[in-house]
Amino acid sequence: MDQNRRLAELLKICWHELEFDPLGDKEFPYCKHCGRQDIPWHWECPNGKCFRIADSSPDFTDPRLVLREMRKRKDWLRFIDYTDGGTRMGAIRIDVHLVMDDTGKLRSMAIAFLEGH
Ligand SMILES: [Zn+2]
Repeated sequence: MDQNRRLAELLKICWHELEFDPLGDKEFPYCKHCGRQDIPWHWECPNGKCFRIADSSPDFTDPRLVLREMRKRKDWLRFIDYTDGGTRMGAIRIDVHLVMDDTGKLRSMAIAFLEGH
């Protein structure tokens, strides 16, 4: 499974998948999971068949987004410990290499941390 989708699933963030029935009761394309109709989207047409793809699914390759979502959790500080970070004098410390990384290292750590629960 796509790593972004896996982390979203573990964080209980909806991975929007759009449906639309022009003759149906919803005016706009809607997410078949959460029902939202205000999700930006674009067309993708592999093999000539076109699908509406949601633009708003999170890209957790960006470690700042991982931190923003993980911070909402009660076990946030345990996650920081898990990354070999910690707290000192009220400051939360995390390895700057993890924060600068753009290959998804923190995403992988978050997945492993959450799957370990
Ligand atoms: Zn949704």
